[in-house]
Amino acid sequence: MRRLPVFLVLDVSESMAGDNLFRLEEGIGTIVSTLRTNPQALDTVWLSVIAFAGIAETLVDLQDLAAFRAPALPMGGGTCLGLALDHVMNEIDRQVATPGRDRKGDWRPIVYLFTDGKPTDQVAAARSRWHDHYATRADLVAVAIGRYADQATLRSLTEHVLLFDDTAPGGFEVFVRWLTESVSVQSQRIGEPGSGRLSLAKADPNVMQPLTTAGALVPGSDQDCVVLVGRCQGTARPYLLKYDRETLPIATDAFSIELSGYRIAGCYPLTEDYFRWSGAGGAGGSANTADLMGGAACPHCGNPITVALCGCGKLMCLRGPGEATCPWCREDLRFAPSADQGFDVERRQG
Ligand SMILES: [Zn+2]
Ligand SMILES: [Zn+2]
Repeated sequence: MRRLPVFLVLDVSESMAGDNLFRLEEGIGTIVSTLRTNPQALDTVWLSVIAFAGIAETLVDLQDLAAFRAPALPMGGGTCLGLALDHVMNEIDRQVATPGRDRKGDWRPIVYLFTDGKPTDQVAAARSRWHDHYATRADLVAVAIGRYADQATLRSLTEHVLLFDDTAPGGFEVFVRWLTESVSVQSQRIGEPGSGRLSLAKADPNVMQPLTTAGALVPGSDQDCVVLVGRCQGTARPYLLKYDRETLPIATDAFSIELSGYRIAGCYPLTEDYFRWSGAGGAGGSANTADLMGGAACPHCGNPITVALCGCGKLMCLRGPGEATCPWCREDLRFAPSADQGFDVERRQG
């Protein structure tokens, strides 16, 4: 049986923290269990999952649907799209059987790339490699998740780019159904005349909008979320604070201005794996906490303050004023009951 290799390449950068990562994880499970009910897909589709942030790694090698187990998704800092593309090309070389003299090889592989941010590395070399050596024998479908995704870069990679509005009501369900149907359709059509051309399932245009090469880009935004990393004082385990950009239009008879800042989206537990997935990228600039609105409790111990700053430049959780030990540098500290002063804290790249 010739296999239809499908690579899911997932952006697991910090901007995906919270609902999106959880839904993506759940979504893969739903896609696989739905595809299993389709005999044609069950016979042909082999699925691989690749994740990327500051590094790119294969979480699941090509696997038939019956044996496939949805992986837990990691999280890291950075959106190394160039690295991810290089990785998937290496994986195509390693895992996909090319047609030879005495064998038919696998069907044309399909790569689904999902990203919600802007690349933090160089994409040009990987893009040339893709166009020169892979574009003729593999299909690439890029899905821009939300308005911060870099649509122009995605469109320079492939003609198949879709903009997924992750804020649309029921959007994720539509997205999961679209992906399932697209893979399904591809498994039905292989071997048919004219099947060399990729056809994707139709999706609700309010949720998934195709970006044609001819059309204009949908207005995006340069503004990102702000993510900060701290450690729990009690358990020393890391957590991630995410703030989403918020713009408040203020209009009076005399003037109209827009105030902007970052509003708390949540505080999420991390594992030590986070630092490995962030690669060598490290911190990306600084954010002033005066621009950050709202707070969230420590997901490990429930301490109400999660932006207490040590002299070593790292954040920790805190119950309130008093003695504390920095979980990063082990320094003994004393926090005085002072008013909320703005201070510069380390900002990770999304
Ligand atoms: Zn804590
Ligand atoms: Zn410290």
